[in-house]
Amino acid sequence: MSDCLFCRIVARQTPAQFVYEDDRAAAFKDVNPQAPTHVLIVPKKHISSLAEASDEDAELLGHLQRVACRIALEHSLTKGFRVVTNNGRGAGQSVDHLHYHLLGGRAMTWPPG
Ligand code: 5GP
Ligand code: ZN
Repeated sequence: MSDCLFCRIVARQTPAQFVYEDDRAAAFKDVNPQAPTHVLIVPKKHISSLAEASDEDAELLGHLQRVACRIALEHSLTKGFRVVTNNGRGAGQSVDHLHYHLLGGRAMTWPPG
């Protein structure tokens, strides 16, 4: 989708600091990091949100989480890390292209606000 920010980043039409890419997924640093490590993991295929994913996307969703874990290990987040997706405006979703936040490098509190 040409009007989608993360589709444009995936297509390299908008710059981002990539940390991972394969045929189905990409990961790049969040422009407004909330932790020392804050990476966004996205499917290359446009899916608006987790709620818009279908049963056919189940393997892709699992792959995105495996990618998040791989990046966490590469960043030596041995003390812990968080993987989260915000679904819908009420949960804080501001970009309508499914993304998992990988956060780490500082102590995390629970519950998030
Ligand atoms: P959401 O609020 O939808 O859960 O997460 C969207 C994330 O995208 C936010 O953490 C925000 O900082 C990040 N973001 C917004 N615009 C850009 C951008 O142009 N480039 C990058 N790398 N991240 C962005
Ligand atoms: Zn998109």
